[in-house]
Amino acid sequence: EDFCKSLPKIELHAHLNGSLSETTLIQLGSTNSDIAEYQKLKHVPPHERTLNDCFKIFQFAHKVTTSPNSVYAATKNVIDEFFLDNVIYLELRTTPRSEDGMDAETYIESVVEAIKDNEKDILVKLILSINRQHSLEVCRQHLDIILKMKKKYPDIIKGIDLSGNPHHGRFSNLQKLFQEARDHGLFTTIHCAEIVNNDEVKDILHFEPDRIGHAPFVHPRYGGCAENWTTLQKNKVPTEFCLTSNIISGTTNLYENHHIREWINNKLPFSINTDDKGIFHTNLSQEFEYALKYLALSPLELWQISLDSVDHTFATSEEKSLLRFKLEQWKKGTF
Ligand code: IMP
Repeated sequence: EDFCKSLPKIELHAHLNGSLSETTLIQLGSTNSDIAEYQKLKHVPPHERTLNDCFKIFQFAHKVTTSPNSVYAATKNVIDEFFLDNVIYLELRTTPRSEDGMDAETYIESVVEAIKDNEKDILVKLILSINRQHSLEVCRQHLDIILKMKKKYPDIIKGIDLSGNPHHGRFSNLQKLFQEARDHGLFTTIHCAEIVNNDEVKDILHFEPDRIGHAPFVHPRYGGCAENWTTLQKNKVPTEFCLTSNIISGTTNLYENHHIREWINNKLPFSINTDDKGIFHTNLSQEFEYALKYLALSPLELWQISLDSVDHTFATSEEKSLLRFKLEQWKKGTF
């Protein structure tokens, strides 16, 4: 347990509002009944829950992050919590949102300010998400704002993500927007195959994003198709795995059966992440702990996963060198 906690870790898949701890929700004024709903997810057996149930929980976080100050405070807390878990590099992602008295630009600025004010020894970058549930028109507006913000904060805003409820929307309708983002120098990461949808997976893999998220239903053993798996084996797009998220949202039944095994067996690139550490009541050390326990990985292999994850970050080459140096130093003092 101490090993996973003290291992310097790289977090590449963390949704801001899903990462809010209970302490933060209470601090920002969540009601008792909202907190009770939030806690429920911990206790309901996975087979009685669906991905749709999990999506409802985000509203509890969204309700209390409706002003620049609360967005700033929420972001600061999330960064501090990852720091305390010995995460040395964090890519946070969040969906631009407008509320009464806070437009989408102000929302992003509030997140960026908290990242700029961070003084802890953890490097933080931002990915902005497009929600696949939104209309093409809204996605277009959000992309314009994202491109404007990326120009203003090029050292912080590094990438664009496609997320949201996979039962809604289609990547093919949004592919042009993602190509435009890429042409403007943004890295791309796409939530992929959260439900069985081989046609969409094909489009995503042919787009060759810099990373994909989750990918539970890509391998033929889990309902994927041979053609897509072959494509992934060829283009080797790194996958962001989130073990507990998949268990709680019911896409995976047991840690032992998690599709990460196929990536390990086939030597495909990946990272281990939290997804929504608040909603899923986890942290990155715990996710590494599960990998140690259920996937029969050795401590040295976990260290190697951290090191390899550096390659998949959207950081600069100088920043990557520094992260690798930190990991090598830690290894010398540990093994
Ligand atoms: P936010 O973008 O900071 O507001 O974080 C919450 C949002 O992230 C949710 O409303 C979803 O759109 C997205 N999200 C969080 N977890 C998942 C997931 O597992 N799959 C797809 N989208 C997700």
